[in-house]
Amino acid sequence: MSILPREKVPILLVDDQPEGLMALEATLAPLGHQLVTARSGREALRQLLHQDFAVVLLDVVMPEMDGFETAQLIREREKSRNTPILFLTALSRGEVPEFRAYAVGAVDYLLKPYEPDILRSKVSVFVDLFRKTDMLRRQAEALREAQRREHERELAEAHQRLEVERSRWREELLKKEMEAGRNQQRWLEAVLAALPSPLALVEPGTGHILFANRTAQELASGCLVYPEARALHSELVFTDAEGKPLPHEELPAARAARGEVLSGVPVEWTHGEQRGAALAFSSRLPQMHGRAETVLLAMLDVTALQVTERNLQRAVRVRDDFLSMASHELRTPLTSLKVHIQGALRAAARRDEEPVPVTQYVAKLETLEQNVSRLAQLVDNLLDISRINAGRLDFELAEVDLSVVVREVAARFSEEAARAGCPLTVRAENPVLGRWDRGRVDQVVTNLLTNALKYGAGAPVELAVREESTHATLEVKDHGIGIREQDRHRIFERFERAVPHEHYSGFGLGLWIVHEIATGLGGSVTVESTPGQGALFRVELPRTREHQATEWRRASQA
Ligand code: ADP
Repeated sequence: MSILPREKVPILLVDDQPEGLMALEATLAPLGHQLVTARSGREALRQLLHQDFAVVLLDVVMPEMDGFETAQLIREREKSRNTPILFLTALSRGEVPEFRAYAVGAVDYLLKPYEPDILRSKVSVFVDLFRKTDMLRRQAEALREAQRREHERELAEAHQRLEVERSRWREELLKKEMEAGRNQQRWLEAVLAALPSPLALVEPGTGHILFANRTAQELASGCLVYPEARALHSELVFTDAEGKPLPHEELPAARAARGEVLSGVPVEWTHGEQRGAALAFSSRLPQMHGRAETVLLAMLDVTALQVTERNLQRAVRVRDDFLSMASHELRTPLTSLKVHIQGALRAAARRDEEPVPVTQYVAKLETLEQNVSRLAQLVDNLLDISRINAGRLDFELAEVDLSVVVREVAARFSEEAARAGCPLTVRAENPVLGRWDRGRVDQVVTNLLTNALKYGAGAPVELAVREESTHATLEVKDHGIGIREQDRHRIFERFERAVPHEHYSGFGLGLWIVHEIATGLGGSVTVESTPGQGALFRVELPRTREHQATEWRRASQA
């Protein structure tokens, strides 16, 4: 309970005599306070249980429990220990046991009949004291309340700061975790990106490409994994191993997205001149580490392998063709030799009955010689293969006149040219000098002239040599079947031929040997041709060793 300055203050009046109480009430009424009356000590104690009083005016003489006993009990209670007690007594001054009154905690005592003003002023003093005490108590309470509030505010602020700090810390931790996660992912992607085998992550169902490493992006211009890329390369065609075109939904990425497990599915493509091949593998990665289910598509680029395989197959085919051709080539002059020798032996057996004229022997021997030369040339060519393959095509360089060589070869072939119906013309009037290997230069002219007579039979063949400042030029021109453009390059390679073997015999070695000799001497061999109208082979040979070295360097850098 708290008392405000203007509020009524409770005052307890205790007297067993009603007239005493009435007199007290009348005396104190002008003060305007709350006057509570009690007719006995017990009643007074009851009232004190309910509320505090500014002062208790206590009659000393009362039946049952007198004022002192009542005061004693009042003091015993903690709450009322300090409540001022004013004893009222009719006893004269000498009869009042003052020591008793003070011993039980009386503050004062008044003798009846009391002076109303004195009573009022005494009571007023206690009322003031009560009010002041109450005010002090309230101020203390207010202070405590303010302190409590301040404390609570500070606590709330500290709590708030803590919360802010905690959430900032949590955020930072989360950020760090996310950053670490992102770094981990970037690192993994960098590792996958650097992998030399094409790799992609595909979204199951939709077929969206979630990730594709560099090699996957480069494989078939990225069209194997990104359907959008196909729009940019409409000329790119995908096929299966049998060459059947594959629509987009049959490509590995789409098949894997549909849930198929691919284990080495072959896919091939052509893109203009380029070709490629890959084997596709796929596996499903289940939902894990916060990632949805994904399909891993891995590819094995077998383009180089396929090229090697094709080259090997071709090499085996060429070798087999060569072996059958070579045996046929060797067999033809051998058979002819055998027939002629058997004929000669038969004639020799019959020489007594039927003598054979010498001219006939000579003709037979000439045929035998031709066949032996043919065989020797074939064997020489075969030997050259192993020499060239082993890099042992040595040149014995000496001063050579190409005009002389050309005229000699032409003379050697005059009869064969006549047989082939090829009028042979040679333009080699002036000396064309250079440092070459005579035998090898002879071989170049021989091989080119042999071809001209073989593929240009029935039409003139022209040989020409001329000297330029740094090199010599040899030209062999025929008017025969000519060479298609697509064959003009490869005929200079080993075993390459551009005619069917049934129509034209040969090993496919002559031009290769010409090429090896010409380049070995630092020169070159080229061909110009109009199919059906003939061919012109041109050999250019540097004349001096310096020029040979320069040309050789230029050719090896090209
Ligand atoms: P071979 O004549 O034994 O087949 P070569 O290496 O000398 O081998 O020639 C390779 C191919 O080049 C020949 O098979 C032929 O198709 C073509 N060829 C060479 N010379 C001529 C030419 N003068 N006219 C037309 N085709 C030629």
